Amino acid sequence: MNPLRVAIVGSGPSGFYAAEALLRAGEDTSVDMYEKLPVPFGLVRYGVAPDHPKLKQVTSVFSRIADMPGFRFFGNIHIGRDIAVDRLGRHYHAVIFACGAERERDLGIPGESLSGSHSARGFVAWYNGHPDYRDLRVDLDCDTAAVIGQGNVALDVARILLKDPGDLQATDIADHAYEALRASRIRTVHLIGRRSPAQARFTPRELGEFAGFEDCHVTADPAELRLGPVCEAETGDPRNAAARANLQILRSFGRNGNLASRRCRFRFMRNPVRLGGTDRVESITLERNVLTGGPFRQKCVGTGAFETVSCGLVVRCIGYRTQRLADLPVDRKTGVLKNRSGRLIDANKPLPGLYATGWAKRGPSGTIGTNRGDSVATVEALLSDVHSLVAPVADADDLVDSLRSAGHRIIGFEDWKRIDAVEAANGASLGKPRQKLTRITDMLEAARAVPL
Ligand code: NAP
Repeated sequence: MNPLRVAIVGSGPSGFYAAEALLRAGEDTSVDMYEKLPVPFGLVRYGVAPDHPKLKQVTSVFSRIADMPGFRFFGNIHIGRDIAVDRLGRHYHAVIFACGAERERDLGIPGESLSGSHSARGFVAWYNGHPDYRDLRVDLDCDTAAVIGQGNVALDVARILLKDPGDLQATDIADHAYEALRASRIRTVHLIGRRSPAQARFTPRELGEFAGFEDCHVTADPAELRLGPVCEAETGDPRNAAARANLQILRSFGRNGNLASRRCRFRFMRNPVRLGGTDRVESITLERNVLTGGPFRQKCVGTGAFETVSCGLVVRCIGYRTQRLADLPVDRKTGVLKNRSGRLIDANKPLPGLYATGWAKRGPSGTIGTNRGDSVATVEALLSDVHSLVAPVADADDLVDSLRSAGHRIIGFEDWKRIDAVEAANGASLGKPRQKLTRITDMLEAARAVPL
């Protein structure tokens, strides 16, 4: 295979780690990374919370990968729209889909589409300045919010809603979100889980931030932190240190801060069954649950006991699904691209030359670093198939040249560096690491205008 030519769709962590694994594997490999936005880094730019800047430092690793010989970045090209998946595949030996999990999950309950009810997908992308969500109408003119789900995204959303906006000023939070949060009247957030604290998906480090939350009284009902024998068996399992640590943190809540101006209530064993309101959300109705089943297989079952909580904002942080891309097979249950060890499959047969990595492969789980091992594994599968891969019909340049000659603006990594420089300069004058450009037209303009 001389040289091996691979396209990667998506420029988040799993895409960059796949590029690194490919470029380290052989001298004669070229990697073209396609990104639908003019800017790279996917989840790191648009998913990581603005008050977690350390997690964003990984972009310097990605920038070094982009500098490796054989790497090219093609931003502002939407695979599936600007270039069909079939056509892309014909120009490369292999295509790796590293396009994450961008589709929201629904609760499937009445009232879910009322104004004031948001998916985490929309809400997180809004405060992070994603161009598709910059104009989302987020109304924070209410006292109480309900955040559904007990994973780290729910923690991010609750923290952003409850933090003193002054503490967000020096972050890269989108300007429109910062202004909205400054004017926010929200003082209470209910963080609602359908199972017990033993099954909460928080990581202890992220949950621990709530123990020292300034000016916020964080509580969990002690009665809800008492576990039944099956939950005790789960938390006693040697592999379940995170659940034990979470419980300890939850039990430490509420000891101080009762004079604080904001409140965060962790609530367990409650299933949302209805959002109430006429024009907009005014309340959420929750059904009390019990758990049935053996350790690590416990499911919640409604008890028929209901309570209604008044709230003007609901954010559903209940996971994500992979978006539909042409006819690529998506597993209905898990929401990922159907694959076996990263090789895409349809009706149990491999789709030659097509691979997946990251959240598109395994679903939305793990940390940013988890994607490294995942992408290495996918690249190993690809390299072990290398002799059966079909040679490209034409040079990859044909693809982008035809787009260019049709007037399509393509953003290379050097162009991104110009956008980056503009954002950094705009941010510096405000004491922020960057002031994100949130319109695609502004990004394209910045790529054009500023000499490096
Ligand atoms: P997650 O960890 O899978 O949590 C999803 C939550 O939603 C669970 O509590 C789940 O409860 C609940 N849920 C799902 N369907 C529900 C329904 N129909 N009704 C009520 N609750 C429902 O997902 P995530 O919070 O979106 O996070 C995705 C990944 O990103 C995770 O790996 C997370 O750790 C990572 N992340 C990391 C950071 C960080 O490191 N700082 C920040 C953000 C995200 P059940 O358990 O009962 O299904």
